Amino acid sequence: MSCKTILASKVSASFRNQIKEDIKERNIKPKLVGFLANEDPAAMKYAEWTSKTCAETGVEFELRKVTKLELEGKITEANEDKSVNGIMVYYPVFGGKQDLYLQSCVSELKDVEGLCHKFVHNVYHNIRFMDDTETMKCIIPCTPLACVKILEYIGVYNPVIPYGNRLYGRTIAVINRSEIVGRPLAAMLANDGAKVFSVDVNGIQVFTRGTGIKLAHHKVEDIDTTVEEIIPQCDVVITGVPTPKYKMPTSLLKDGVVAINFSSSANFEDDIKSKASIFVPSVGKVTVAMLERNLLRLHDYQNNLTEK
Ligand code: NAD
Repeated sequence: MSCKTILASKVSASFRNQIKEDIKERNIKPKLVGFLANEDPAAMKYAEWTSKTCAETGVEFELRKVTKLELEGKITEANEDKSVNGIMVYYPVFGGKQDLYLQSCVSELKDVEGLCHKFVHNVYHNIRFMDDTETMKCIIPCTPLACVKILEYIGVYNPVIPYGNRLYGRTIAVINRSEIVGRPLAAMLANDGAKVFSVDVNGIQVFTRGTGIKLAHHKVEDIDTTVEEIIPQCDVVITGVPTPKYKMPTSLLKDGVVAINFSSSANFEDDIKSKASIFVPSVGKVTVAMLERNLLRLHDYQNNLTEK
């Protein structure tokens, strides 16, 4: 069987069409503000791309260029401005802990990226709603959510199994454990029932909901193993190593593996299609679609249009 390449543009198309129709039908104009406080050309490119996608779907996008020192005050202003429905910041700004602080300065009702403390905490604790009456779904960080939507599209999520357990029986490796993508992604996949090997430069952890997925949310264990031992066991391998030097050896992969790369560098070897059943070379377009989806959700929460 030959490998099927799935492009992010294909997965994102149905989400984008749905968002576009929704905005048109309801005659609304949700507004997203992006703060750029660095000179990073990759951030500038991401901003241009967001702007183009937003224009196509009917979302108003405003890029605000500010200095690093102005940023916190400008976020506070946008938090209080009723005409702004969503806020995103192009990171890194200061790098390290100060950026974590800035992520939590964004109001949870405007946090389209899902990076404030409450949303990240809820991902780790498998809390799916913002409120006790379960009318407002939590905002999920965009790139981990994009990976989940791709796995649903491909059929790795089994719809016959009840919602919340649909990855039961799947073994997945995530090669990246950053706080923005890899760790929340591993937690979400494990919360949905998968056994997840989370790999970073310091070692390997396993995220599971225990035998028979009996736990309410995932547990994490440090394990003494190697990439060579775990990768052949995996049905899905998701890579996010931010360097062109890193390559996942095709020879380690299970025959018929689903291979997904979210890094800006190509993390799989050129012959990946000789082993994979499905190959997804990038996820960026789905990430932007998730950003817009989160924006619409927050627009409705701000206007009390919840799923009662
Ligand atoms: P980061 O630098 O914060 O994290 C990198 C992670 O990779 C760390 O966990 C690190 O330990 C791990 N790592 C590095 N070398 C490794 C190795 N040899 N083996 C195993 N693990 C290794 O970066 P980040 O913010 O998570 O971004 C990672 C990549 O994903 C970048 O290329 C970035 O551009 C891309 N990204 C893409 C999207 C998207 O939507 N497409 C969104 C965010 C990030």
